[in-house]
Amino acid sequence: MSLKVYIGGKLYDKADAKISVYDHGLLYGDGVFEGIRAYSGRVFRLAQHVDRLYESAQSIHLKIPIAREEMARAVVDTMAVNKLTDAYIRVVVTRGGGSLGLDPRKTTDPQVIIITDAISLYPAELYEHGLKIITAGTMRNHPSALNPRIKSLNYLNNIMAKVEATNAGCLEALMLNHKGEVAECTGDNIFVVRKGALHTPPIDAGILEGITRDAVLELARAAGVPIFERTMDRHDVYTADECFLTGTAAEVIPVVECDGRAIGTGTPGPITTDLRRRFHALVREER
Ligand code: PMP
Repeated sequence: MSLKVYIGGKLYDKADAKISVYDHGLLYGDGVFEGIRAYSGRVFRLAQHVDRLYESAQSIHLKIPIAREEMARAVVDTMAVNKLTDAYIRVVVTRGGGSLGLDPRKTTDPQVIIITDAISLYPAELYEHGLKIITAGTMRNHPSALNPRIKSLNYLNNIMAKVEATNAGCLEALMLNHKGEVAECTGDNIFVVRKGALHTPPIDAGILEGITRDAVLELARAAGVPIFERTMDRHDVYTADECFLTGTAAEVIPVVECDGRAIGTGTPGPITTDLRRRFHALVREER
């Protein structure tokens, strides 16, 4: 059976799931999206993802044509139609078709697209041995230009940094903000462990408010690990005892090297491993 894709309330076979080439989502990256994950038939933190989607849309002055409850229902229903239990879910809302000019007022039909598919994971051995990352020369979008809190269809900033990472033989790149402070990676938030405490850049460093980041902060708090959301520079990463990234697709993944410097012992640390275990339990238990 071919996968069904939801577009504007209807289900299409994957091969027939198409939108107009005049859609401003394609022409200008004008739209917003979410990456969501389901475990054993339950969507993890769906309400939070839906809220973030609607906030991104509000921020770019895009009115999503359906209500939040209907969006949440459509996500669950699309997954069910495809008989998926462990899935990666991509929700996309485009500005819609219009003229070949920027003006969003000339667009008429915002498209709501829901793709539910198998989840593709980092190789298991990376979770055992950890990732190597580099710092990208491409800085993270300035919050006054395109705020990284908006999960927009315009991901070129992150893609440029990703190209730098892959050219350097790495899978992820650390991105700094316009002040040279640590922001986040191309598709993940970053944490370090120093002297038993967890440190991560604050939202005003110019980052996406990651839903996995939130969950890990809650888990750390419950485990009694001190937390500091504070401005960080690369020195903090180079000299950390442990480092890891968080994201819907990556979950919690250890980082063992940055710009050629081994972090801590150069192997995944105990707090990272413990939080990874707690996160796995959470996604399976949470209702
Ligand atoms: N930062 C960026 C730039 C992202 O695109 C993502 C999502 N892939 C994240 C962080 C992690 O966010 P979440 O935990 O909500 O997936």
